[in-house]
Amino acid sequence: MSEKIREVIIIGSGAAGLTAAVYNARANLNPLVIDGTLPGGQLTTTTEVENFPGFPEGIMGPELMDRARKQAERFGTQFVFDQVDSVDFQGDIKKIKLSSGQELLAHAVIIATGAAPKFIGLETEKKLMGRGVSTCATCDGAFFRGSDLIVVGGGDSAIEEANFLTKFAKKVYLVHRRDHLRASKIMQERALKNPKIEFVWDSAVVEILGETKGTVEGARIKNLKTNEEKILNVEGVFVAIGHTPNSAAFRPQISCDENGYILTTKGTQTNIPGVFAAGDCVDHVYRQAITAAGQGCQAALDVERYLASKGL
Ligand code: NAP
Repeated sequence: MSEKIREVIIIGSGAAGLTAAVYNARANLNPLVIDGTLPGGQLTTTTEVENFPGFPEGIMGPELMDRARKQAERFGTQFVFDQVDSVDFQGDIKKIKLSSGQELLAHAVIIATGAAPKFIGLETEKKLMGRGVSTCATCDGAFFRGSDLIVVGGGDSAIEEANFLTKFAKKVYLVHRRDHLRASKIMQERALKNPKIEFVWDSAVVEILGETKGTVEGARIKNLKTNEEKILNVEGVFVAIGHTPNSAAFRPQISCDENGYILTTKGTQTNIPGVFAAGDCVDHVYRQAITAAGQGCQAALDVERYLASKGL
């Protein structure tokens, strides 16, 4: 069955994708959004969002995304609950093959597939996610005023999260698997000078405690050199061991940096004309709901201009 050629297809339904959909739908471009594996994106895995402007009392992440989806639908956005299997972006008509086997065609595409936080891989980490285990200090730090916390990782993200969390926490243990940090010198120096941060070197979190109570009560830490174990009594464990941008399906056609983040120029333009990218699959610096939404808006406006330049 031959597919119609759509004006724009948006891949991903998080803050960036849904914002792009609202804008493109209001511009009568009849966008189709491919939901992906996690409709609503990373915000659906968080609890209360207190820093999205316009919600002085805060709003639950899933509700925020549900509202954005309804807003996009109100102006005619269509959704398909599927994932991208492969793409062919070479010609003027962009081809997207879904996991179901269906092939979609469009004049323009916005990639807004987000990024997935990496996890340590513990059973207890999954069970206590959102109940003391978090991958986002900016989102959840304020819930831990006066608490003792752990941050896992030794890169810029971990150091940034640890520094940020000291605004709220009594103490932050930075548990790192080696005896030196991967983070940039300037970030390291800041953390090493911070009296609220205690470094736990050569160590791994091997169990997060709290299953009986249902929230984090502590963590078992193993020294990887001596095999000694100890319990740290903490109320939160922030896992900051990196994110993986969801860009694999688009490489090598779409240029990415060495970590897989999609490279854009002139706003949201990728290396292929007619293909734009926005949100956490592009941005490893800010990674906020509001910045992803802002980039989604930019991508939608870039699509409008691109289609107009083609006389479409
Ligand atoms: P990253 O640089 O890849 O660092 C990940 C850290 O987690 C490393 O220290 C790594 O240990 C550790 N790690 C990885 N897997 C682990 C596991 N399974 N268990 C325990 N520890 C594990 O990731 P990132 O910190 O998210 O940074 C990503 C990129 O964004 C970097 O280019 C960074 O510079 C940039 N960034 C910049 C800023 C900023 O400039 N403000 C802020 C955040 C991120 P090893 O060191 O032993 O490999």
